[in-house]
Amino acid sequence: MSKVLIIGAGGVGTVVAHKVAASPVFTEIMLASRTKSKADDIAAAVGGGRIKTARVDADSVEELTALMRAFRPDIVINVALPYQDLTIMDACLECGVNYLDTANYEPKEEAHFEYSWQWAYQDRFREAGLTAILGCGFDPGVTSIFTAYAAKHHFDEIHYLDIVDCNAGNHGMAFATNFNPEINIREVTQPGKYWENGKWVETAPHEIHKPLTYPEIGERESYLIYHEELESLVKHYPSIRRARFWMTFGQEYLTHLRVIQNIGMARIDPIVYNGVEIVPIQFLKAVLPDPKSLGEHYTGMTSIGCRIQGVKDGRERTYYIYNNCDHEKAFRETGTQAVSFTTGVPAALGAEMFARGLWKKPGVFNVEEFDPDPFMAEIGERGLPWVELFDVNLEL
Ligand code: NDP
Repeated sequence: MSKVLIIGAGGVGTVVAHKVAASPVFTEIMLASRTKSKADDIAAAVGGGRIKTARVDADSVEELTALMRAFRPDIVINVALPYQDLTIMDACLECGVNYLDTANYEPKEEAHFEYSWQWAYQDRFREAGLTAILGCGFDPGVTSIFTAYAAKHHFDEIHYLDIVDCNAGNHGMAFATNFNPEINIREVTQPGKYWENGKWVETAPHEIHKPLTYPEIGERESYLIYHEELESLVKHYPSIRRARFWMTFGQEYLTHLRVIQNIGMARIDPIVYNGVEIVPIQFLKAVLPDPKSLGEHYTGMTSIGCRIQGVKDGRERTYYIYNNCDHEKAFRETGTQAVSFTTGVPAALGAEMFARGLWKKPGVFNVEEFDPDPFMAEIGERGLPWVELFDVNLEL
């Protein structure tokens, strides 16, 4: 018996709304976003009068607290943008509401993301007796829970961790991003970074790459990029000697990205155009396809997992755990493609883990700090089945 407030009516919000509505644990659901009509459309698609909607500017703590005081949710699922993480956490503290998100805080004016800002809320959440669950999408999220599951059941010590993220889907567009274009382009144009022997090693963007073989997909060129879960995983698993994150990109995507950067359209600082201040990357977002619209013609699969090497009972072992998700199947169920689907399903299940008292402790926690077992037992039937392979060639 729990009341949930979902903030953000984009691709991920659509999936969260469908999944939360399908769960008997949530008795009352509200979906609030900047543009109320988008929340209304999602509520209508879910049907059954299950979802109430509201308009909220999540940059405003005042608007958020007014909404929370009126609706009185037990937990907020934040699937707006990373810029809103702190205002939503502030409002949760003011109103005594628990919190869950899928992406770490990033200031609008600086393409830089790290957990320090949200970890700084630890004492305030603990003292208020509230739970904040950070990074409960797929990556971060399921990849972190896969790592926790491996550490709990298959390894005494993890030494090498490689998170591999392949999107082998085809949406038929010359260039589009699979989630919010502004956030996506800011993320993938950053310098690369990985953890080795107790320190971070920086690379030029996309400098390190190699072909990796993905199950049911085959070989795809994979690029080392920095991804936020590396920061919390190396903190929580200090036996890790090296942790890296790989993502596949097609040549066509990389060429477009290079042009976008070279002509200044990836800039995040404001410029004045015809007397109006605009931020080039925000203008670009407005002309690129909405990630939500890609679903209808998307074919193929995503494959995301963890390749791990370490020791168990004094013996070296390798381990690969992954999920493959089909774009067309995701679209049939929720009207969105697999990238939104793989993010929204874990967010909804994470909130349910909280509501059922399984992931409930005062403070601010990354998902790997909770017991992975109840989540792993149910994520398959929610739409994201996983496969384990032992003693395989990790190619790394
Ligand atoms: P979208 O851009 O599709 O949706 C974002 C939604 O948030 C939109 O409805 C938008 O409103 C709303 N929003 C933006 N600003 C505000 C605001 N100030 N107040 C209220 N609502 C606001 O993004 P996605 O659904 O693709 O992504 C959602 C989140 O999920 C992002 O934080 C993203 O980083 C994260 N993500 C995490 C992944 C993971 O695996 N962990 C993978 C993919 C995404 P409007 O429609 O008016 O613009």
